[in-house]
Amino acid sequence: MPEIIRRLLAAKQRTDFRTNKFRKPAHATQLTFLRAYGKQSRSRIRHHHRAYLGRSFLLRSRTALTESHLMSPIIQRLRHDNEVLYKVLLFIFGGFIWLGVIIGFLGAVAMHNHATIAVYIEYGIGIPAFLLISAALYRAKAFGNMVLLGPEQCPDLYKAVVEGAEKLGLPKTPTTFIYNSQGIMNAFARRLLGARYVFLTSALVEVQSDAQVRFVIGHELGHHAAGHLDPLKTILMAPGHFVPFLGPAYSRTREYTCDQVGAYLCADPQAARASLQMLGCGCRRLNGSLNIEAFAAQEQMVPSIAGFFTEIVRSHPRLTRRVSAIRDNAA
Ligand SMILES: [Zn+2]
Repeated sequence: MPEIIRRLLAAKQRTDFRTNKFRKPAHATQLTFLRAYGKQSRSRIRHHHRAYLGRSFLLRSRTALTESHLMSPIIQRLRHDNEVLYKVLLFIFGGFIWLGVIIGFLGAVAMHNHATIAVYIEYGIGIPAFLLISAALYRAKAFGNMVLLGPEQCPDLYKAVVEGAEKLGLPKTPTTFIYNSQGIMNAFARRLLGARYVFLTSALVEVQSDAQVRFVIGHELGHHAAGHLDPLKTILMAPGHFVPFLGPAYSRTREYTCDQVGAYLCADPQAARASLQMLGCGCRRLNGSLNIEAFAAQEQMVPSIAGFFTEIVRSHPRLTRRVSAIRDNAA
């Protein structure tokens, strides 16, 4: 690729990341080309400009589909080493299965197999409709029953979400709710009808210190910022989950990634580790006396064979591993 195109694309990517908008290949770009190739023939300038426009279009399409423009350098630095590998495997297996589904449909159409076509149409409409209706219902339940954080509602908690979202380069602060989980400590991130949401439970906020809550918020924001909830990717990868143990393995690497993001945002690796240990303890009274090293050392006591089999089917790594995996330099 000519140097001028490479430089322009790099500048464009930087601008797109900052503004979260795509600049049209503007007049200024053409002037840049004229300046760079002023001594060359007009057809050569047009040739280079067309190459730039083509690559620019590809870049726009790719970023629009994959949300890679949201990937801040922070996320790239904190991402778990195996996350991309498992994601690619899910894409490959998922892609093959989707291809089989499409070929099956085309075959049924070619052979006028109306019963099979009817099944395709039923699932093709039924599954998306079910998912959309479920998301709409959950959204209605959230707005009607949970407490929506805002500048006037739990402002400290809301501020932590806003600041975390800004640091991670999210274009908009996810809509964040806190709700009464009847004692169950949990937090999760979701996409509902395209919009970003974070849900916190009162039990979790209740037992944790401010820094620990910032870790939890950072972890959930991490799922959004790292593209884990990207709808298109999720659809493409979905059939890949039929491959035994691959889906949970990918999920566990995502959790490790988001633990590092949470530690980075709370700027206190010990608080991040204590927050994870607290998920296993759940007692506010004991929060100040948690011994993180002793908890991490329990990892050596996990029976290796039984520990392996319980781990490979789980979407989250066990807590002793998560605590040990928090890096000091994440913050
Ligand atoms: Zn998570």
